[in-house]
Amino acid sequence: AKQAYVRTKPHLNIGTMGHVDHGKTTLTAAITKVLADTGSGSFVPFDRIDRAPEEIARGITINIAHVEYETASRHYAHVDMPGHADYVKNMITGAAQLDGAILVVSAQDGVMPQTAEHVLLARHVGVRHVVVALNKADAADPEITDLVELEIRELLAANGYPGDEIPVVRVSGLRALAGDPAWTASIRALLDVVDRYVPVPDRYTTAPFLLPVENVLTITGRGTVVTGAIERGAVRVGDRAEVCGLGTRLTTVVTGLETFGKPMDSALAGDNVALLLRGVHRTQIRRGNILAAPGSVTVHERFTARVHLLAPDAGGRRTGIASGYRPQFYLRTTDVVGEVDLGDVGIALPGDTAEMTVRLGKPVPLENGLGFAIREGGRTVGAGTVVAVLD
Ligand code: GDP
Ligand code: MG
Repeated sequence: AKQAYVRTKPHLNIGTMGHVDHGKTTLTAAITKVLADTGSGSFVPFDRIDRAPEEIARGITINIAHVEYETASRHYAHVDMPGHADYVKNMITGAAQLDGAILVVSAQDGVMPQTAEHVLLARHVGVRHVVVALNKADAADPEITDLVELEIRELLAANGYPGDEIPVVRVSGLRALAGDPAWTASIRALLDVVDRYVPVPDRYTTAPFLLPVENVLTITGRGTVVTGAIERGAVRVGDRAEVCGLGTRLTTVVTGLETFGKPMDSALAGDNVALLLRGVHRTQIRRGNILAAPGSVTVHERFTARVHLLAPDAGGRRTGIASGYRPQFYLRTTDVVGEVDLGDVGIALPGDTAEMTVRLGKPVPLENGLGFAIREGGRTVGAGTVVAVLD
């Protein structure tokens, strides 16, 4: 029998963000190595983190990019997004659940366009706490590294984070992976900072259960399994739950619950889980659906929003948008087309923050304060927040 999950420490969800090649995956592997060497958790090598999703067909797997580890005081689920497009998608989908983020910046290269875009997105989707891993410190000139640190603090401040206070730790993921003691200590210092600076969030564990569905799998002989992070509430084996959004509404019963391959009786907001559902065929549920306590959510098609359109140098559009513009909206794990109405203002330019009314092509659960991204042709052009739900 599998060993059951025992909750001995607070659980937090964190992740690495930052420009491609600045060392996110190397750092993730280094963290697991440093902790494994002190006896907490197992080492996950680079090529196990950076692998392709098709390779992960084994059992109830949570998410390709997740690794778990423990410090003395916490249990972490850590997500490392494989590439920029995945990052943007995961940021919007999983990211509402990130309690904190490690911004990885290469001390050799400094702030790059994706560094800026990730910070902006983190802010929009509500990542409240960021710490900085100033990586490749082994290979960078110390004076340049000082300048890069200033540049990062300015970027964070410009996005509404406390740029002066945020801990910046100089690390070398690569040297720590190689077992170099000084740089191993730098990874410990980074973990200490994460433990101290990222607070255990107030989980809405008493609210009605809600889980945005990330993945759907069929486990032969058992049935349909959905995975995702619980946004709020709690769920127990035996609970009834409703599948809704995108035109679906059906009731099921949760007949199995696991986290990182370990069975559990009940799961709480913040947990990354796999749920086995009774009587639901794989074709009846998909990524983007919501699984919720029966009767606890309503679906909507129209809302007003405040939207920041990315500037061209942050990867945004070169031209403005007008009423009638129909991009894709990424809300929780849902990806749905929507039409924008800019009212009397008529147009909005890249770099602007604008109020708009949106009509989605399909009804989805919506609520005030929900963050979302706007994408077009595979790239993110804006990020926003629901201000008011209409109908
Ligand atoms: P990602 O795209 O942000 O996940 O970056 P990777 O982890 O794949 O690393 C990109 C490249 O930078 C690889 O060639 C790594 O070996 C190298 N690299 C990563 N961390 C360090 C570091 O701390 N020091 C040095 N010198 N190189 C590093
Ligand atoms: Mg990577």
